[in-house]
Amino acid sequence: MTDPGLIVIGSGPAGVGAADAYRARRPDAPVRIISADGSHPYFRPPLSKDYLRGETDDVGMHPPEWFRERDIEVVLDAAVDHVDAGERVVTAGGDRYPYGALVLATGASPAPLPIPGGERALQLRSLADAETLRGAARSATTAVVIGAGFIGCEAAASLAMQGVSVTLVAPDELPQQKRLGAEAGRRLRELVEKTGARYLGSAKVESVQADSVRLDDGTTLPADLVLAATGVHPNSAIAGSLGLTLEDSRVVVNADMSTGVDGIYAAGDVAFAFNSGAGRRLAVEHWQDAEDQGQVAGAAAAGEDATWSGVPGFWTTIGDADVKYHSWGDGYERSTMVEHGDGGFTVWYSAGDGTTVGVLTYQADDDYDRGEELITAGEPPPVDRG
Ligand SMILES: Cc1cc2nc3c(=O)[nH]c(=O)nc-3n(C[C@H](O)[C@H](O)[C@H](O)COP(=O)(O)OP(=O)(O)OC[C@H]3O[C@@H](n4cnc5c(N)ncnc54)[C@H](O)[C@@H]3O)c2cc1C
Repeated sequence: MTDPGLIVIGSGPAGVGAADAYRARRPDAPVRIISADGSHPYFRPPLSKDYLRGETDDVGMHPPEWFRERDIEVVLDAAVDHVDAGERVVTAGGDRYPYGALVLATGASPAPLPIPGGERALQLRSLADAETLRGAARSATTAVVIGAGFIGCEAAASLAMQGVSVTLVAPDELPQQKRLGAEAGRRLRELVEKTGARYLGSAKVESVQADSVRLDDGTTLPADLVLAATGVHPNSAIAGSLGLTLEDSRVVVNADMSTGVDGIYAAGDVAFAFNSGAGRRLAVEHWQDAEDQGQVAGAAAAGEDATWSGVPGFWTTIGDADVKYHSWGDGYERSTMVEHGDGGFTVWYSAGDGTTVGVLTYQADDDYDRGEELITAGEPPPVDRG
């Protein structure tokens, strides 16, 4: 019988990484990426940065030849609605695709804004969303960005840099104070405000009107454009229908991205994957980690031993400032800010036992690299050594 090969659901970094890794090990088996997205695989990180500012249109992950040369078929605009794990068949838009191995790389989608008028707010995940947002920004004088996670901070900065009067509104007194601490939050606020955007913390949005946003203290903020950057939900409906184990709506997988069902793997934002370096499962939403997990899934699906072990990390760009972060991402006990005197800084994060569990840097690349080594080795941050 001919090998039905690999099907990957999703064309983000996890999906493309899985297809690439599988193809490298199985030169002759069919490899197919099926995606609900209508655009050829693209990078999401620029969508809140240079793409939103109109500085580039070129966000393609790989040119079409890259897929052709590898004989990876990409089926777009095809939402998978059913997987029969017994027969090993995926159904999308009425078409049936048999598989030998399946990788669920369905990522995450923006959570709806659960307040009156919430549906008026734009969201930002896909290239189509970014096109809509960029178009709306062209005619907007005022904007409110709701949520000060990295995407909210980046988008607020990009809109402000185009001359839009932007207010970034979030419940934390300082951006990401809960996640990264007050000192880091203060520096993030400075970076956002340097672009001309205003940060309004400790604020709760009550409703979105046609041309304004109303806060629960009665304040009304004018807004030709409203962007909700209030977090994402994993796209785990298919995984759920297959009876896969979910935790916080993410698919629980092993370090090789295998699920409990033979031949089915999950990777990227939809996965809650075991990291063999951390010794526990981690929920991460970063580009490089999604790609790494996809590569592991593709290799494992092709029968090779592979595990996810690296320290998760990402860069965010707020205006023209690159802030870099390495962390296991599941909390810390203590944080220590080190100012470098030239505007740069490092925040070291450690656990109760003194080991380094995170590092956040701005203009301090040596610390970023050193931080990764210390986290991997389970050693204390340099600032905590006696
Ligand atoms: C605006 C923006 C900026 C970002 N910037 C950064 C950054 O600077 N650094 C960083 O590390 N991370 C950044 N991220 C996060 C990063 O993009 C994600 O962590 C990453 O894309 C996750 O990859 P993934 O492959 O798991 O999922 P996704 O990229 O979400 O891809 C999932 C794919 O699955 C498809 N899909 C879903 N359901 C179905 C279905 N039923 N059938 C078929 N297809 C389906 C979707 O259409 C999509 O193609 C950013 C994200 C956004 C939105």
